[in-house]
Amino acid sequence: MKPRGTLLLFWDYDTQWGGDRSRMPGGRKEWGHLEFVNTERLLELHADHGVPACFAVVGSAALQGERPYHDPDQVRRIHEAGHEVASHSFRHEWLPALGREELLETLRASKDALEQCIGAPVVSFVPPYNQPFDYPQRWAFSLSERREAGARRTDLGTLCASLHETGYKFCRVTYRSVMEHILTRVRRRGPDTPGHAEMIKGVYCLRMNAPGGFNEQAHRVMDLCALRGGVVVVGGHPHSLRSGNTQDERRLVPFLEHARRLHREGLLRLCLPRDLLSENGGSDQ
Ligand SMILES: [Zn+2]
Repeated sequence: MKPRGTLLLFWDYDTQWGGDRSRMPGGRKEWGHLEFVNTERLLELHADHGVPACFAVVGSAALQGERPYHDPDQVRRIHEAGHEVASHSFRHEWLPALGREELLETLRASKDALEQCIGAPVVSFVPPYNQPFDYPQRWAFSLSERREAGARRTDLGTLCASLHETGYKFCRVTYRSVMEHILTRVRRRGPDTPGHAEMIKGVYCLRMNAPGGFNEQAHRVMDLCALRGGVVVVGGHPHSLRSGNTQDERRLVPFLEHARRLHREGLLRLCLPRDLLSENGGSDQ
């Protein structure tokens, strides 16, 4: 019997490019070097548990140079271990503020750098900061993006059209409709239902449905997917593996064990975005 549910697990590999452009309070952060040491640990943990992951890598990290900005050897090792290497833009840009040419440039430069590094196609994309959130076609409006990004703003539809134009086929997305925002307030927790793919401007998209690392919600959505079908989309940052928060190794390991158990019981597929594309004929288009 084919498993009903599917797990997609992401690591956003920001390096110091992301630290320099942190949008958290206090601005620039110094955690870039942690991305590399913790990724070594993640490669061990994923191998031990037999769970593949998609590493969304800032393209500049795949260029020659020193840590904490570059480590092309590690990017190659991620690929050679059987994980998927996706693009996380070129230098962790905040995409809503980019005009069309700048957007195309970061998408192309990142894809090129990563493909040169690993010697294989890069077809999946994860936007830095999970933005743009703004997607009026699905009643998702981001007032802060509209206020801060200026007239040449990139919304989710523009991003997906540009991804399609530059040869990407998959995008992880995080928009929320007005109705979902209201429900979140009323229920005091985010949307946690099994996910289903949607095509946006020719790109195969899945929404994060457990955005808080490997917390109870992530376990619950994974159980629901195993029971009813659908996709659980979770993720974290390698640099947070020792943070004590929900992306910590102490939360990750029980999650990997849970995923493995459901997989052994025939209830859950452990997938990569590129696997979903090949099932849907997307990789040949
Ligand atoms: Zn990031």
